[in-house]
Amino acid sequence: MNKRWTIGKIKEFVEKNSESALLSTEYHGFSQKLLFKCACGNNFEKTFTKFKNNHQRKCEACQPPKASR
Ligand SMILES: [Zn+2]
Repeated sequence: MNKRWTIGKIKEFVEKNSESALLSTEYHGFSQKLLFKCACGNNFEKTFTKFKNNHQRKCEACQPPKASR
């Protein structure tokens, strides 16, 4: 099944599955970096693929890249 992500669905996913919020208002594809706001107040950019599949759902201050193997 091919799931199509829209900005609305991504926003819903982000709200349900993380403590971050989605700031981007447009989604053009999986390689696009989206802007998120972390629960700590920092903004961070990440592709949705990384956010979703690699569980990188916080800013780098809360979740340093090296901490997640
Ligand atoms: Zn943070």
